[in-house]
Amino acid sequence: MESEDQSLHSGRLHFLFLIMFIGLVILLLRLSFIQLGKGEDYAVKAEANRYAQQILPAPRGQFKDRHGEILVANKPSFTIQYTSPFTKSDDPKTVQANIEAIAEKLVPLLDDPEEKEKVTKDKIVKLMMGTDEYLSRSAPRKIKTKATERQVARVKENLQDLPGIAVIPEAIRDYRLKTFGSHIFGYMRKMDEKMWNEYQTKGYLMTDLVGITGLEKQYEQYLKGIHGATRVEVNINGDPIRRDNNVDFIEKKPIPGNDLTLTIDKKLQQVTEEALAERVNALKGTPVKNAAAVALDPNTGEVLAMASYPAFDPNAWLDGMSDEEYAQFQPAEWNHAVEYPHEPGSTVKMLTTMIGLKEGVVKPDEKIFCPGGLDLSGYYASCWDPKGHGLSDGREAIAKSCNVYMYTIGKRLAKHQFIFQNGGVKSWMEKYDKPAYEKFRKYQNEFGLGVKTGIDLPFESAGKYNYQPEITTNMPFTAIGQNSNFTPLQLAQYVSTIANGGKRMKPYLVKEIKDPEGKLIKKMEPEVLNQVSFSPELLQYAREGMWKVTHEPYGTASYMFGRKKYDVAGKTGTAQTGRDTENYWFVGYAPYNNPKIAIAVVVPEGRVGMHSYEMAGPVAEKMLDTFFNEEKKETAVN
Ligand SMILES: [Zn+2]
Repeated sequence: MESEDQSLHSGRLHFLFLIMFIGLVILLLRLSFIQLGKGEDYAVKAEANRYAQQILPAPRGQFKDRHGEILVANKPSFTIQYTSPFTKSDDPKTVQANIEAIAEKLVPLLDDPEEKEKVTKDKIVKLMMGTDEYLSRSAPRKIKTKATERQVARVKENLQDLPGIAVIPEAIRDYRLKTFGSHIFGYMRKMDEKMWNEYQTKGYLMTDLVGITGLEKQYEQYLKGIHGATRVEVNINGDPIRRDNNVDFIEKKPIPGNDLTLTIDKKLQQVTEEALAERVNALKGTPVKNAAAVALDPNTGEVLAMASYPAFDPNAWLDGMSDEEYAQFQPAEWNHAVEYPHEPGSTVKMLTTMIGLKEGVVKPDEKIFCPGGLDLSGYYASCWDPKGHGLSDGREAIAKSCNVYMYTIGKRLAKHQFIFQNGGVKSWMEKYDKPAYEKFRKYQNEFGLGVKTGIDLPFESAGKYNYQPEITTNMPFTAIGQNSNFTPLQLAQYVSTIANGGKRMKPYLVKEIKDPEGKLIKKMEPEVLNQVSFSPELLQYAREGMWKVTHEPYGTASYMFGRKKYDVAGKTGTAQTGRDTENYWFVGYAPYNNPKIAIAVVVPEGRVGMHSYEMAGPVAEKMLDTFFNEEKKETAVN
């Protein structure tokens, strides 16, 4: 109910905004013609009159959350811009003198007591000259965006003394929730020369901003509207004239871009972002600088939340960034949930176990003894608990996160018994280790590890693998998640695939694309990328192991999740980074028997020797608590 109301409300707002905007445009144009017309001798030049076009920029499509709540919109605004009337052959001194004269006139006109930042002649000249810009000399330069009413009125009154200056109406992007969702939405900025070459054939103006990252880039073609134009009667000098008060100036209305309805839940997204920020702030003074988390619907692939800390404010990109703003943006540039792979550590262990079972190197009820470490054919590797885990079958080994069990699978897959036979390590690697490794990798790929997940975002990382030549530990270490790097999104897809019975679902952020009238243009359907080659019994085995993680006394996350009503199955992970830090993970899904949400959380580069359930666990807990409380509320309403 609530969501229907909201979407109706937002549609109405959008429409009102459009009406208001067009109204402003008409008013502005009429004003300008009245003033320009003053004192003109129509009769003399009438015969030479012709028509010229003025562009009416189209507002961009909006972003809404899955319940129809507006997340990103536009607001009407006026920009004072300068287009140089000079050509290359004009004397640079004349050009400079002219620009300085105009700037001098503009300073008092742009003075507004309400504005904190004062305009100076130097600043205006710099903008008009555009020396630090990569745009061509004839491209319009924005002198003042978001001009105040007072500024617009005063500049309009004096346009006849300001050659090349124009006041243009614009709908500017409004990231109304500031840093919220910034890595999902991405940001926009003006085009460089290369982009302009591409976009000018598609109806863009040189002054248009385009999407550079995130959904703004991915859905650029849907978000961009179609610019409108007015047919303006001009005299022989190209100046607009006006003969009839009742002329309808709008020739072609701008058509706003299409709206995107996202899969994310605003509340869950907000809680996820806050939990990540809280976590990183609580770890001040340690090497931790980032954290990231993803929540998917494991049955459909819909992204319910996705966040990377720190976030940035995309509004800062709209006007061109100050150095200070850039210093704030820079550490937030990477989307750690999608673009930046981290060592996954023990989160891969349920798949390692399944691979061992599928390949027949371990049996479902076989118990393997952990004395606290294992010889990896020349290298002694410890288990994370040097006291040892005793005897464990695969499920118990997942729950205890026992390295020795996983090393054993790695050794058996790579046939370590043949290492010291004829030919030595090199020939063993070629004959046994490398092929086993490739097969292992292919199995991981089936679940989304080490391949792109297919999400509708640009710059997705496929993760990476590091096979090291001439050492005997490749397989055992890969089996515990040490020789690879994956993104939180890949791990969330992998957990979803285990949870939903083996379908690798393509994750997506946009559910629907609607035109400004609300007509459906495109509806995204869940897409199965592949069905894994593992039997339902093997997947069930892995799920049972994950359930033990969060419920058995020896499970590594039972302390945090053992008493939760929503019955979560999960896996902790701690990965050595080789930089004297460790990545801390929690992945999981809930409810155990009827999965509705799958999550992955990473807190990378933590101090060595912490516990995953303490480092990543609190974020996971807040996300799941929120999701299940929300769900209760919705069920109650329906
Ligand atoms: Zn162990």
